[in-house]
Amino acid sequence: MELPAVKNILDANWDWRLPVNIEDIATKLNIKVASINYFNPEHENFKGLSGLAKINDQGQRVIYCNSVESLNRQRFTLAHELGHHALGHVEPGKHMQRVDVPAAFNSNTADWEEREANNFAAQILMPLDAIKTMLFAKGISNIKELARIFQVSEAAMYYRLKNLGYLTL
Ligand SMILES: [Zn+2]
Repeated sequence: MELPAVKNILDANWDWRLPVNIEDIATKLNIKVASINYFNPEHENFKGLSGLAKINDQGQRVIYCNSVESLNRQRFTLAHELGHHALGHVEPGKHMQRVDVPAAFNSNTADWEEREANNFAAQILMPLDAIKTMLFAKGISNIKELARIFQVSEAAMYYRLKNLGYLTL
């Protein structure tokens, strides 16, 4: 099911270019994007994480990504953490921080909010209208090619197409 939050954010902040510039969208939503830096003592607790979403002491929403991981991975992490912010999983006075170990991105994770953030990430990086354009207007259906165009992993593209019911195999 497509999340209304994704459509609203894309409608207001996406320039229709591919790949979706997820960092630009986060910036437009006034969310700061930073890298986990193992040499920064303040990041000591971030070791082993793929990413986290937090509201800092100044009330600023921030996303941290692990810059050691692959570019596709980082884009998905950023989109996932953006989901935690946009879907209310991180809220002032309630949940100030949400941390993600690599397993959080497993599609079988039992945590409902993690699954929702993963759906958010897939949908914002692979917008439904853009997928339809590629498949039905441009006739591009090769998963490898689509993954390259949207700058996501082939696995992520496979699951997106499968969830949309566009895979017949
Ligand atoms: Zn998460």
